[in-house]
Amino acid sequence: MPKAQETVLEIDLKALKHNFEYLKSKIANNTKILAVVKAFAYGNDAKEIALYLENLQVDYFAVAYVHEGILLRKAGVKTPILVLHPQSVNFKALIENCLEPSLYNAKVFNEFMSIVHQEHQTNYPVHIKFNTGLNRLGFSESDIDYLISKLKETNAINVKSVFSHLAASEDLNEKAFTQNQIKSFKEITKEFTSKLGYKPMLHICNTSGILNYPEAHFDMVRTGIGLYGFGNSEKENKHFKPIGTLKTIISQIHSIKKGESVGYNRAYKSDAFIKTATLPIGHADGIGRPYGNGKGYVIINAQKAYIIGNVCMDMIMVNITNIDCKEGDEVIVFGTESTSEDLAKAANTISYELITAISQRVKRLYLK
Ligand SMILES: *Cc1c(COP(=O)(O)O)cnc(C)c1O
Repeated sequence: MPKAQETVLEIDLKALKHNFEYLKSKIANNTKILAVVKAFAYGNDAKEIALYLENLQVDYFAVAYVHEGILLRKAGVKTPILVLHPQSVNFKALIENCLEPSLYNAKVFNEFMSIVHQEHQTNYPVHIKFNTGLNRLGFSESDIDYLISKLKETNAINVKSVFSHLAASEDLNEKAFTQNQIKSFKEITKEFTSKLGYKPMLHICNTSGILNYPEAHFDMVRTGIGLYGFGNSEKENKHFKPIGTLKTIISQIHSIKKGESVGYNRAYKSDAFIKTATLPIGHADGIGRPYGNGKGYVIINAQKAYIIGNVCMDMIMVNITNIDCKEGDEVIVFGTESTSEDLAKAANTISYELITAISQRVKRLYLK
């Protein structure tokens, strides 16, 4: 890869393939794999990632919202797409684009039924979500009889899967809680399928669920962060390769005398001579203000250069006092050595937040 000449997010598709294959090695041959490509495939680029994974024969995709699914269909993606959190106002567009809704309460269920009838559909694939402890979205066990009575009234929809979501699959201190979620999922799905009279696919695991709860893989697993290179633990991270490397360059170097300040609101005041580098990446690119004032850092010439003062919209200033570098040099914000997970920790957040925040104005480059 030639050196960066502007801010770019390099996406290593070979690393994506490696992660996909590692995750597949963790599941049985007949267990299906769903790739979660919501939020631009966690900030990477949903189209490229989905088309690449489709070539690797992924079984399913999931997005959060209908317009994310439409983007994939427009890019030519043919694989089934589950929409995890569809809004009723978009149900007609969802059907027109052959997207499959998650139905999680009576309101959306009935709104979807009325649109699906209006559109004269039969056997339209839907996914029924149950709440087993996350308390975010999902029917409860006591809704089963209501749901079954509604489903028996019509042939407009076909329950393709029944699923739930784990609240703390990465946290082994919460093992008992997670095992209880899995147990209640088993009970709910047993009752639901016996009353339904046919067998939808069952799934509950996200990436950490796949790694930590092999007994809960059921018919399909859903992976997001694992594909993008993180296993949510030191032990597992070794098996994954981060697919994104965020690079930028040094625009200008300043010598700051004792007593001078750097940046907006004079948030940094120097008590000794320092050197700073100004970089063309700021909070509008996804490096939020919590990374400012000594928390976040970038890598220049294999050394950490900490952010000085407030993060600006389009720029940050970093301390390069003891780093040998010059204007135009390449800077690594995060990548395979210094990862987005490490950087996220410095601002008290998680890799998921940092990578999904890399804004659309940052150019994406693919290593194939
Ligand atoms: C985002 C999401 C996932 C993916 O979780 P990872 O931890 O990134 O693997 C899976 N299932 C649901 C319902 C989600 O919202």
